[in-house]
Amino acid sequence: GFDLSDEGTLARINAARQAPLDLKAAPMIAAEATGEAHTVYNPATGAAVGEVIHADADTVSRALEASAPWTAPVSERAAVLRRAADLYERNFGPIFAILAQEAGKTMLDAVGELREAVDFLRYYADEAERRPDAKPLGRVTAISPWNFPLAIFTGQISAALATGNAVLAKPAEQTPLMAAHAVALLHEAGVPRTALQLLTGDGPTVGAALTSDARIDGVVFTGSTETAQVIRRAMAANLAPGAPLIAETGGLNAMIVDSTALPEQAVRDIVASAFQSAGQRCSALRCLYVQEDVAPQMIEMIKGAMDELSVGNPWHLSTDVGPVIDREARDQIASYIAAAGNRVLHQLPSPAEGTFVAPALIQVDGIEALEREVFGPVLHVATFKARELGQVIETINATGYGLTFGLHTRIDDRVQQVCDRLHVGNLYVNRNQIGAVVGSQPFGGEGLSGTGPKAGGPRYLNRFCAPTPQTAQESWDS
Ligand code: NAD
Repeated sequence: GFDLSDEGTLARINAARQAPLDLKAAPMIAAEATGEAHTVYNPATGAAVGEVIHADADTVSRALEASAPWTAPVSERAAVLRRAADLYERNFGPIFAILAQEAGKTMLDAVGELREAVDFLRYYADEAERRPDAKPLGRVTAISPWNFPLAIFTGQISAALATGNAVLAKPAEQTPLMAAHAVALLHEAGVPRTALQLLTGDGPTVGAALTSDARIDGVVFTGSTETAQVIRRAMAANLAPGAPLIAETGGLNAMIVDSTALPEQAVRDIVASAFQSAGQRCSALRCLYVQEDVAPQMIEMIKGAMDELSVGNPWHLSTDVGPVIDREARDQIASYIAAAGNRVLHQLPSPAEGTFVAPALIQVDGIEALEREVFGPVLHVATFKARELGQVIETINATGYGLTFGLHTRIDDRVQQVCDRLHVGNLYVNRNQIGAVVGSQPFGGEGLSGTGPKAGGPRYLNRFCAPTPQTAQESWDS
């Protein structure tokens, strides 16, 4: 594991914190790349932190032509991915600097991202070696979101590369600098330039081109449920039948806290689940159900714990909650909170500079009041009576999402009852709703939240391989 107390690491972090950043990202393809320049801004300050070239249509087409599967033996591919994991670890200083300044990530978030990214590299290297006879799909497009610009970006790419595919990676337009740094490390480790190409640019142009070209054999996507639906339609119209879409999408995640829960622990877990990463996690807690008799006390404790959060620039290591990703996100979330009027039970003040939305607590009757995922630090709270528990579970299932769910209780039967009835990918009992451990706790959702099998799980790589009679028979829910 990664240890922040290691002196060499701390020295590298401090060096990176002091070095001025002059970052550039551009398409990294095995041919000439051209396109238009855009500025990348720091969401915490509004300052420019770098520049990115968005690939033009010719660049996408040249990349598709140059792209070639990685034909080296699996043992060699695995060795290269393990070398990349080592390089990532040695680069934590610059990685934190980029994550903080480009994506508004705190140190705690950055450590989590690095750990998950290196775990993906090593785990998929191991998993690929367990499939020596597997054949790759061919060319795979990887489209990733801005909220885990290192971990999810690396997870998608390493799964496709470990199995010998050629990858065309399209990072989110908000976080190209992290993607370019990661691809440089992967190339340095030995991934061929024809096997891994980076196409910076936006969704409707570069993303659309890379999901509607008949030369693509599969797409791995993480992002919103709406974009996944657009991509599914583009693939159905243009790609060969059977080209898989491996999708991880949004959630409307709930937690139930009953009157037997330990209050201090529950409150700590509620606040972390809702507000860490400024609520910009697909797994984040959106709607808390508290049993009626303990609700007034619990809500007061949550407000108190919110007051303890330090909201500000993640460059300061004491920051708990950084900015939201950009102005558009800030305006959307802020107007959502404003529309809640007197249902807002508590909100912290927001820093004036940058794109901040301070954590807010909003009262609702139930999760059905949330029409869609609000991707920021907004926690909704509802109450329930003991006899209504079954109904609450049905209401949560009825959202159609099924990503994460939290339960705080000391009644063992209740854990079983919830497990049996709730349709959800990841269930967290008496702990916060954060994290999944590659290799031992695979992550992924059901229904509107994703297609399965879960990332970081033993069956995930099968989707990146040409189907065999056995893998074709497997059901998708894992
Ligand atoms: P998004 O859907 O807006 O964008 C994701 C990616 O899709 C970006 O790279 C974007 O450029 C690209 N894209 C947009 N339109 C496209 C098109 N027409 N064709 C091809 N690509 C296109 O999502 P986001 O705002 O970057 O990320 C936040 C969302 O991601 C939230 O809904 C969150 O729940 C979800 N998410 C899910 C998981 C998970 O594991 N389930 C993890 C992280 C984030």
